[in-house]
Amino acid sequence: PRTRRVHFQGQFMLVNKHARPLDTIIVSLPVEQHPRLRALALGQPGTATLALNDTTSGLRLYRLARPLAPGDSLPLTMSLDYRELGFPNSDSNTDIVDNGSFISSNYLPSLGYRKDAELTSDQERKSYGLKPRPRMAPVNDLPARQNTYISQDADWIRFRTTVSTEADQTAIAPGYLQKEWTKDGRRYFTYVMDRPMLNFYTFLSARYLEKKDQWVDSAGHRTVPITIYYQPGHTYDLDRMLAGAKAALSYCSRNFSPYQHQQVRILEFPGYQSFAQSFANTIPFSESIGFIAKVDPKDPEDIDYPFYVTAHEVAHQWWAHQVIGGNVQGSTLMAESLAEYSALMVMKHAFGYYT
Ligand SMILES: [Zn+2]
Repeated sequence: PRTRRVHFQGQFMLVNKHARPLDTIIVSLPVEQHPRLRALALGQPGTATLALNDTTSGLRLYRLARPLAPGDSLPLTMSLDYRELGFPNSDSNTDIVDNGSFISSNYLPSLGYRKDAELTSDQERKSYGLKPRPRMAPVNDLPARQNTYISQDADWIRFRTTVSTEADQTAIAPGYLQKEWTKDGRRYFTYVMDRPMLNFYTFLSARYLEKKDQWVDSAGHRTVPITIYYQPGHTYDLDRMLAGAKAALSYCSRNFSPYQHQQVRILEFPGYQSFAQSFANTIPFSESIGFIAKVDPKDPEDIDYPFYVTAHEVAHQWWAHQVIGGNVQGSTLMAESLAEYSALMVMKHAFGYYT
């Protein structure tokens, strides 16, 4: 964190889920984040040759020496760096910072054609002789429905990661902590998720304090630990957030299905951005959308939004992380609308109707 530098080293295991052999694999680099690629390889040396390398769009075509049969798999190994040197006039990277880094899987390569990189504005498309493009594919678009709207290159994945950071910071990613150690002045954490999860994950690191609580699942006869990792001093709304998390866990597990994880973690990140977002058992949460809120309980107009936002994010563990729509129009109803519906129901039960 001190040098605002991130190094990724890892492996994706690719599976050909199509009915026919694949002779070419498209890998896209997130050029908008300015990665410095050290290595990218498919399988053993000789497995694939780089047939096209468009460095402007980050698109790479790899031709396989032997086509990948349906159901067969191939590892993609990678090593890449990000570094912020000094500061630009505008649009400085605020994900990789001294205290409170929040990096998502968008910093890693993706597979296949990136439809999200297409020109979207009708006017701009027209000037290139292109037809207008629907914002999302129509609901009957069968190829689009083969993917979720969260990631177009994987379904449910197995996830294991080791994250290291500076000695006075805690690094967190989805999954459960398996191992923690210190080496050469750095702290290391290994997290493993015990069930398939969306191809959508995050890494955070900050000088955190921890507030611990638990939710008693009366239906499942178990207790689920809840931990809020927060910036020292930002204790104002922790109890409201914990109450919101517990109320949403109760409401959603009673009305929909059991909570699929064994813990809930809420992680504060700096107010460069003001949103919260649900990843598997891991909820990054901006300081500016709850942690430093000043709610007046005597004012009926002053909504308890630390409670409300937390309930919404916890509900996403069901809506998106248990049930998710295909990559077509209307699928956000099953993520955003139902998370919001759940949060409103939790609010109704906690505070009653507004009169
Ligand atoms: Zn949401």
